[in-house]
Amino acid sequence: MKAISGTNLEQAKAHNRRVVIEAIRTNGPLSRAAIARLTALTAQTVSNIVEELEGSELLKADSPQKLARGQPFTPYSINPDGAYSIGLELERDHAAGVLTDLSGTIRARIVRPIDPLTPEQAIPILAVISKELQEALAFDRNRLLGVGIAMPGRYAAEGVTSLTPIALPGWQHFEVGPALERLVGVPVLVENDATAAAIGERLYGVARGLSSFVYLFLGGGIGAGMFLDGHLYRGSRANAGEIGHIVVEPNGLRCICGKRGCLDRYVSLGAAYEHLEISDPGAYTADELEAMVEGAGPALDGWLDAAAEPMRRTIDFLELAFDPQTIVLGGPMPAGLLARLAARMEPLYPPVDPTEERRIPRIMIAATGKDTSILGAAALPVFSETNPQFAVLQKPVA
Ligand SMILES: [Zn+2]
Repeated sequence: MKAISGTNLEQAKAHNRRVVIEAIRTNGPLSRAAIARLTALTAQTVSNIVEELEGSELLKADSPQKLARGQPFTPYSINPDGAYSIGLELERDHAAGVLTDLSGTIRARIVRPIDPLTPEQAIPILAVISKELQEALAFDRNRLLGVGIAMPGRYAAEGVTSLTPIALPGWQHFEVGPALERLVGVPVLVENDATAAAIGERLYGVARGLSSFVYLFLGGGIGAGMFLDGHLYRGSRANAGEIGHIVVEPNGLRCICGKRGCLDRYVSLGAAYEHLEISDPGAYTADELEAMVEGAGPALDGWLDAAAEPMRRTIDFLELAFDPQTIVLGGPMPAGLLARLAARMEPLYPPVDPTEERRIPRIMIAATGKDTSILGAAALPVFSETNPQFAVLQKPVA
């Protein structure tokens, strides 16, 4: 049995700094008083942290605001140039990378078409992309927090290994993080694509400021990223949200996981391609595939009809199990198709409390679109509370 880890004072301080940054990131510019109110930290603690973060240029003071009554106050906002991060994405047909600033704005982007690669081939390409992104913008390299990479789950006990034979053959038991870190020389964080997308959506999309939501990542398969009570929920082996392998059709279609009738086989881009008899999606670009799907007419309606009921049940289960504020539909599936799927799911099963007046819809479409995983990946080094580079940046300036 593992004991619950304690926090020492240094860790607690680092955690509080991150809490302050996140409060401003999700709410926009805030005064010290507002930060204290939102974070439940004392006014003195907030003052110390704000001063420190301003000193290390992660926060900047905006011009003082004056209300009709009371003292003028100074709102603090994220200093975009305070830190940078690189997000990488490796897909079947392309490798891509973005350099984002601390506000999450993409400052440089590189996309390379590739054929499916082994890790030995892919890691050097990802390293080159990271290097070129750093050269694409003049900035203080000491302010690069790290590299985040989003990859399809599922993960072995040690994390960082991908076990998706269909999406990326040959990647089983390969440790992506350490291999890439040796080449790029900054911390590399690996996260499953659905969780990375949930982080991206919470920082920059429709889930901004929400404390409990489920992000359904619809790509080759379907997975879920979960924020519960303000915390990212990963599970004991970082496999929480592998809902694509819930059996929805006993004795149904055979799945790569060895079972039959998994959700993945009915609700995913992979399932849509199969239904539309696109036998070799790898032969087309993402844009070509999107056009083929959009133009499929009655066949597409057939797939939507087949997918709607398993999705409705999945939504019902997630709402009952986790009581989220909303469920976000996103991932590589085109937004237009996500919206049609959401419409086809109506009416949903009755909610937990049918009398409740909802301010937030039960289902939302992700705002970050196709950049969802890559933005999430870039957010990983920023989001990580233990990032060593981040700790270096936060040392008070002498
Ligand atoms: Zn399965």
